[in-house]
Amino acid sequence: MQRYFVDPEMFCGSTALISGDDARHLQTVMRAKAGDMVIVSDGRGREAEARIVAFGSNGVEVELGPVRVCAAEPCVEVWIAQGLPKGDKMEIVIQKGTEAGAAGFVPFVSERTVVRYDDRKEAKRNGRWAKIAKEAAEQAQRGRIPPVMPVSDWRGVLEFCKRADAAFICYEREGELKFRQLLKELFGRGREPGRILRLALVVGPEGGFAEREIAEAEAAGLVPVSLGRRVLRTETAALVALSCIMYESGEMGG
Ligand code: SAH
Repeated sequence: MQRYFVDPEMFCGSTALISGDDARHLQTVMRAKAGDMVIVSDGRGREAEARIVAFGSNGVEVELGPVRVCAAEPCVEVWIAQGLPKGDKMEIVIQKGTEAGAAGFVPFVSERTVVRYDDRKEAKRNGRWAKIAKEAAEQAQRGRIPPVMPVSDWRGVLEFCKRADAAFICYEREGELKFRQLLKELFGRGREPGRILRLALVVGPEGGFAEREIAEAEAAGLVPVSLGRRVLRTETAALVALSCIMYESGEMGG
């Protein structure tokens, strides 16, 4: 069943409105008719099956069935702090990361960031990133739209990581191969039921991290991890590390 996000406030009533591009998609691509069923989600983990009742100028009106918790949300929150990559690669990280289950994204500028950041285009870029996250979440049947935070500086990343239960910084020059072991320990521990583990994953830009940054990260409690003896492109590194976490957390079964 096709899935759409609606304003969370609409979950209080018995009907909701699917608007904007989603409404157009329903009508023109899906050729939906009154009576057809869709799933609507509030983007915060709740969803309901819904029946289309009317097509109006503001959007598609649906009647909500019983509200339930979305089953597709991972049992672990993984926040990806991504050193701003060149071209449209941040979009790839957001799109693929959302599909694989990332909780949110923190783009950042650090010492060796290659791309020049144009502040004047900020609003446009943030809008595009948010749209990519929303569309990827819909297609992946997620119950949450992972937020893309404003571009941070390096200090901001370290501050952000302090709020996580564990934070890893991907570092290709880390000699010890310990990522799997660390994850096994993390997920092997008995946890309070219902408490979601919040992890941060920090990936450098094309230029990698300066040694000083790794030292600062360690001082702030982040753990440097290697993803193997091959050097990955920045957008690959985020997705590989995220997949490892999803696998070890049991999100892929077992
Ligand atoms: N310019 C660097 C490579 C940077 S790769 C060099 O050639 O030395 C970009 C980012 O991807 C790195 O900062 C790191 O966070 C991540 N990365 C790439 N390969 C990795 C690996 N094998 N282990 C851990 N992190 C890796």
